[in-house]
Amino acid sequence: MERDELKFFADLLEQKERELEEDLSRFEVSLEVEEREQDMSGVVYSQDHPADKASILFERERMLSARKEMADNLREIKHALWKIRERPEAFGRCERCGAEIDRERLKVKPWARFCLSCKKRLEGSA
Ligand SMILES: [Zn+2]
Repeated sequence: MERDELKFFADLLEQKERELEEDLSRFEVSLEVEEREQDMSGVVYSQDHPADKASILFERERMLSARKEMADNLREIKHALWKIRERPEAFGRCERCGAEIDRERLKVKPWARFCLSCKKRLEGSA
């Protein structure tokens, strides 16, 4: 990949990394606030309103899985940035078969590790 192109993807990844780190730290704060609120209103949400409690738990589950997804994405982004710095020749290539990953796909998801056909195969066997 050309230097200019690598730079373009590095910028894209760094921007995304910052966004995700901000989102994640905001998330931590709102989870903490939510925990405190639940402690204080524990009585209100006891037997009288089991539905409320279920929906709070559901909401919390949802937030935790969203947070996990963000953390996973952040890890992928850091990996991609590491590749650009340390193994620039490997960036943009499938980690499984070595084929070039489609540029348009990389623009949408610059941290993609695999070409589409390997991705499909890996997901199929997972
Ligand atoms: Zn591949």
